[in-house]
Amino acid sequence: MASIFTRIIGGEIPCHKLFENDLVIAFLDVNPLSPGHTLVVPKQEMAELHMLSPASAAALGAALPLVAGAVMKATGAAAYNILQNNGALAHQEVMHVHFHIIPKYKDGRGLALTWKPGAIDHASAAELTTRVTHELRA
Ligand code: AMP
Repeated sequence: MASIFTRIIGGEIPCHKLFENDLVIAFLDVNPLSPGHTLVVPKQEMAELHMLSPASAAALGAALPLVAGAVMKATGAAAYNILQNNGALAHQEVMHVHFHIIPKYKDGRGLALTWKPGAIDHASAAELTTRVTHELRA
């Protein structure tokens, strides 16, 4: 079954469309964290970011700063977060890749983050670096 975003792309479900080209669409989130909360979505229906074709990924990369700049100018927000969830455990609800642009306002409206950094373990970091670079060469 087509994702809700594919149905929006097809015009079956309405949206407040901000941007569209052959590979990407951007529209306002229906449950915004703050005014101007926008979703930037590849037309290629894939669940997670690493599954996208290089062409879709490149088009997303080009659209994001363009749309983010327009949202910032239009809203007058003070800052913004880009959020991109992959997998239900990582809070992904719609299993079709999307980037959130979430304007942050001086009164606090926007994304609230809890960030609990640890200290790097250099031995395990070196081992992980070996494994990841091996995957990248595969
Ligand atoms: P995520 O948790 O990253 O999968 O976020 C999915 C986002 O899609 C949520 O912020 C929803 O509010 C948004 N959303 C779901 N359905 C629609 C829709 N029909 N139009 C606009 N945004 C939607």
